[in-house]
Amino acid sequence: MSTITPKIEVETTPNLVAKVYEKLQHKISTFRKAMHRTLTICEKILIGHLDGSADFSSDDALVAGKTYVLLNPDRVALQDVTGQMTILQFMLAGLNRTAVPTTVHCDHLIQARIEGESDTKAAIYENNEVYQFLESASRKYGMGFWKPGAGIIHQVVLENYAFPGGLMIGTDSHTPNAGGLGMLAIGVGGLDAAEVMAGMSWELSYPKRIGVYLTGELNRWASPKDVILFVASKLTVSGGTNAIIEYFGPGAAAISCTGKATITNMGAEIGATCSVFPYDKRMEKYLRATGRRSIADLANKHVNLLTQDPQIEKEISENQKNSINYFDQLIEIDLSNLEPYIVGPHTPDLARPISKMGEDIKKNNYLDTISVALIGSCTNSSYEDMSRAADVAEQAREKGIKTKVPLQVTPGSEMIRATIERDGQIQLLKDIGANVLANACGPCIGQWSRPELKQGESNTIVTSYNRNFPGRNDGRRETMNFISSPELVIALALGGRLSFSPLADELTASDGTKFKLKPPKIAPEIPEKGFKDVTDIYVAPADDPVSVEVTINKDSDRLQKLEPFPKWDGTDFEKLPILAKVSGKCTTDHISPAGPWLKYRGHLDKISDNLLLGAVNAYRDGEVGSGKNTLNCKIESFPHIAREYKKRGLKWIIVGDNNYGEGSSREHAAMTPRYLGCAAVIARSFARIHETNLKKQGVLAFTFADPSDYSKMLEDDRISIIGLNNLKPRKSVNCILYHVDGREEEISLRHSYNESQLEWFRAGSALNILHSMEQTSL
Ligand code: SF4
Repeated sequence: MSTITPKIEVETTPNLVAKVYEKLQHKISTFRKAMHRTLTICEKILIGHLDGSADFSSDDALVAGKTYVLLNPDRVALQDVTGQMTILQFMLAGLNRTAVPTTVHCDHLIQARIEGESDTKAAIYENNEVYQFLESASRKYGMGFWKPGAGIIHQVVLENYAFPGGLMIGTDSHTPNAGGLGMLAIGVGGLDAAEVMAGMSWELSYPKRIGVYLTGELNRWASPKDVILFVASKLTVSGGTNAIIEYFGPGAAAISCTGKATITNMGAEIGATCSVFPYDKRMEKYLRATGRRSIADLANKHVNLLTQDPQIEKEISENQKNSINYFDQLIEIDLSNLEPYIVGPHTPDLARPISKMGEDIKKNNYLDTISVALIGSCTNSSYEDMSRAADVAEQAREKGIKTKVPLQVTPGSEMIRATIERDGQIQLLKDIGANVLANACGPCIGQWSRPELKQGESNTIVTSYNRNFPGRNDGRRETMNFISSPELVIALALGGRLSFSPLADELTASDGTKFKLKPPKIAPEIPEKGFKDVTDIYVAPADDPVSVEVTINKDSDRLQKLEPFPKWDGTDFEKLPILAKVSGKCTTDHISPAGPWLKYRGHLDKISDNLLLGAVNAYRDGEVGSGKNTLNCKIESFPHIAREYKKRGLKWIIVGDNNYGEGSSREHAAMTPRYLGCAAVIARSFARIHETNLKKQGVLAFTFADPSDYSKMLEDDRISIIGLNNLKPRKSVNCILYHVDGREEEISLRHSYNESQLEWFRAGSALNILHSMEQTSL
């Protein structure tokens, strides 16, 4: 096994970046000649990455929400949980080597139990089979492999691979983190990634554009986190759906590169395709500090490709109404007046300034006592974040006090951890009682052992993470997660209660005197002594890939070789039962929960036993994870019923509510229903990635033409979806509901399939098409 420092592989990146800028230059000027339009930054990057078949001559070539475009991404990033299925799919397609630079990051499988080092060792032992699989597959197929403990995917990508003007896809919904370095970085399902790794173009519904015009400068307690929490409060969890959020204006340059990444990271919380900032001096500074001087030089030579046309900002600063020429929506934020925010519980758009938290606690009866405070994650563990958090810790240490509640720190990468250890921030945090966990996701993704918490016990946690839906952090739906900036989380940990506001409340020093915390000082985004070099965290692709064997044990309960899904048999779906009608929020984590199930992500049969375990049953007064088995009329778990139906060769459907499948890009949320026999999901509306994932796995994804028809779907109904032989883009589909009292109702369904997506359905899955193409080319 060859172990080298990451920088060796990264050396190849300047060539890639130079080629990308050449391509951008050529395509953008061709587009301008044809269309004579002023362009925003996200338009430039999208146009610059369009597939060669793109036709700029027609007016409807790039219409948001209508046109599907084919794009050629520059990079792919996989994490260790979603990466397993991606690589299995890549292998099933019969390919030899990735056509696009790809990396694998071991971050999601490390469970937080005691502290970083021992937890990482335990994870290496427990997940050995999976890590071996990922590492050997990486070496064989030409991917860079980042070992357990190296860091969280998005932080490692920001430190090593992201570059202004690039287009990247990643099998994780917070891939947009790289937008902080001017890259369009988009979370996708594993199959999308496998296709791009195989050299195919990637299809995207041409997104809308939401502009966020920033003026002023952050001050006092306000931080980049508050920018995105404020935007989330305005747009809500679905407000960014099918849109790219483009930040610009004089305020953008006042935010550090890593602060920008915090903002673009959490664009995922509002359903945005991705978010992006234009290239600026702060990005240049970060590139130079992370060993990428040549990329900074290249970017400086191509600033016009990496920033929006200056006319746009000029026109909008003169009159906001001019934004209509460039954006579907505009939000203006004066950073100088932005207050620190806190959001939650259970949804990131439930926001209020910290000064209003006390009122909200009383009004909603939230638990005021905090059980644990946590900072870090891929969202907020930059040098700047940790320095501001350490500043608050230092104030407390000077007064001789510690946090009133346990404080956990999850560094985003080994580079950050080693640097803040060297520079003293870790010691300051430890001095007030912090415990440092592994450089991994841990409590952000349900990988958190909390034996001290009784089953069913309600509790409040405060974090600087990004997601907070029920069950997200510790697998327990009773845990209420409130999200804020790292510095505010430290203040709350010192106060010990959610209602504590460092703006108004005092703490008691060890000598009994009262004092107020001061807002943290402006912190350096780059360490004075540079980032610490770290070694033994990366494995390069093998020089002799043929000699590398990738083994999957037949008896393994962690990994299972995939078999292709069967083709559509050409007949309509007749009289299918409804497995589940879900009510309210149903994220991919409700459809395919994480926590204890994470370890089965490479084993389709095993993980299918978690199907819809977090979904709320619309028929049964909020019952979660179970419903009526129409074969025996018993109430049973959804996966059990699905297996019973499958045994009898009976296909079934799911009825979804609004924004069905929001949240992470988890393709298992589409694969497990498909595996257990789901024919179609009919929802009031879909989250983009999940809808595409359903289509790719061969499950029909429909929306109600009239959303109120949702209420017509009754528990004992049988459902027919007819005319499938005539499925066409933009053509509605008929659905007949057979009620148990003998009534029949006909309703109309809509879909967003284009012609090639309909082929996925007919072939049984998109992968089946990929496989047959590979076979034909052999
Ligand atoms: S959001 Fe959480 S789980 Fe996802 S990559 Fe970041 S730290 Fe990991």
